Amino acid sequence: MKVAIVGAGIGGLAAAACLRRVGIDVTIYEQAQRFARVGAGIQQSPNAVRVLRRLGLEDRLRAIAFQPASALNRQSDTGELLWERAMGAASEERYGAPYLVLQRADLHAVLASAVPEEIIQRGRKLVGLEQTGSTVRLDFADGKHAEAHAVIGADGVHSVVRETLFGAERPEFTGRVAYRTVFPAALLNGAAIDDQAKWWGPDRHIVIYYVNPQRSELYFVTSTPEPDFTRESWSSTGDMALLRDAYCDFHPSVRSVLAAAPSAHKWALVVRDPLPRWTDGNIALLGDSCHPMTPYMAQGAGTSIEDAAVLSRCLDGVDPDGVAEALRRYEATRKPRTSEIQGLSRANDMNRFKAANEMVYGYDAWTVPLA
Ligand SMILES: Cc1cc2nc3c(=O)[nH]c(=O)nc-3n(C[C@H](O)[C@H](O)[C@H](O)COP(=O)(O)OP(=O)(O)OC[C@H]3O[C@@H](n4cnc5c(N)ncnc54)[C@H](O)[C@@H]3O)c2cc1C
Repeated sequence: MKVAIVGAGIGGLAAAACLRRVGIDVTIYEQAQRFARVGAGIQQSPNAVRVLRRLGLEDRLRAIAFQPASALNRQSDTGELLWERAMGAASEERYGAPYLVLQRADLHAVLASAVPEEIIQRGRKLVGLEQTGSTVRLDFADGKHAEAHAVIGADGVHSVVRETLFGAERPEFTGRVAYRTVFPAALLNGAAIDDQAKWWGPDRHIVIYYVNPQRSELYFVTSTPEPDFTRESWSSTGDMALLRDAYCDFHPSVRSVLAAAPSAHKWALVVRDPLPRWTDGNIALLGDSCHPMTPYMAQGAGTSIEDAAVLSRCLDGVDPDGVAEALRRYEATRKPRTSEIQGLSRANDMNRFKAANEMVYGYDAWTVPLA
């Protein structure tokens, strides 16, 4: 059984590692020649770490990630504590796995270390797919092509695999922008800040946390009204004066972080309804290509990693003739959960997040019953 994965992002690498665990021959086709280290943090909640644990990655992640004791939710101007979500030892005790926060590029590197470099073909931009019988042909922009029994489209929010299968999508821009960056905490010049906090304003918020155990690097990500900006891409740079102005009514602790940050990237926040389908014959989608979500619950990568574990369980022991059925089973197992989380995340409602904690963090992709 040969599986081709399109995209060596977080979901694609996790899928490759999970499929290799069950003895499947995997090749990853990635459009980029190398990965840029964009300044971004990422939260990995227990449901994701549980998957990464079985891939043998937990110790490496613990060594480089930060484990805040709790995530604070604060009123934007007064700093009043609205809700405190226990993390650290409390998360480990309750969910049997830690809640880690780290640099996104470090998570990507740890996932890449779980697969042999030679299975990743770089500079391969997928432009077309064709199914014949139990094989799929992949066409690349460089004129080359490949064949596999199954193709997994882990090619992110602007997925070519999704567009090839189901046509162009119609994303709905929220009129909001996520500014985000990682910068040296030394630039704070001693200003007191929380280990991890989300500051809720009437129409905007900012999340701030350290991304390594030394607390030497700090990350923030915002949801900021900016109706005219619609680019979903990390190559756009934000205007720091505009950003600081947008948070001028926030607590001094937030303002000190924005004053210290030298620069930030910005990404338009987009919402999409759950797709009607993720699979077509021997081709399936995984991660942001099929369930892109707002970052408000920090579950985009986590749910992609869950997808990877369930996909490997569905394909375990299957021969090429059984691929289509296995992929339908994968979709049926995963879609109800990711659709629910997409909806929850879109709402950005603290009370709904609270209520959903157990459902989100308690999920075990290795043992959940398959559909
Ligand atoms: C502001 C913000 C904050 C976030 N914070 C969190 C968080 O704290 N926790 C969390 O779990 N998630 C978070 N996320 C979500 C998370 O980043 C994504 O859900 C996750 O990266 C999805 O992984 P993926 O593999 O599906 O896509 P990606 O990681 O985007 O990977 C897609 C890969 O496919 C490649 N590719 C694309 N097209 C082609 C093609 N045609 N041919 C070949 N290769 C191709 C790309 O180059 C890329 O390497 C956040 C997202 C945003 C926007």
